[in-house]
Amino acid sequence: MRNISKFRLRAHTLKVEAAAWLEDGSCVCDQCPGEDEHVQNEVHALLICQDHRVCELRKHFSFLLTPFFEDFSATQPFLLQQVNNQLVHDFLSQQNNRLFLFLSELMDLFVAG
Ligand SMILES: [Zn+2]
Repeated sequence: MRNISKFRLRAHTLKVEAAAWLEDGSCVCDQCPGEDEHVQNEVHALLICQDHRVCELRKHFSFLLTPFFEDFSATQPFLLQQVNNQLVHDFLSQQNNRLFLFLSELMDLFVAG
């Protein structure tokens, strides 16, 4: 439950928040494979990050994602571009107890990463 509060309050340790007090000031995701640089914010963590463990977690909870994000699939368990905030809001507002489990496990991956 603690991770969900952190996520909602933005008082978490994603790079976009931590950059304010980290020495290197970088908000680039350090968990994405490859050369592309992505800002590690909430939407990135939820939908875009291509970290292997994050993708596996999204596949496990795909029933939460597929009703909202058409591009999401088992073969491509991440989105290639930013989505509109309303859609993210709708996703986070869905009435499904499993959403909290997904967010909690997701934040664990980023905190541990
Ligand atoms: Zn990433």
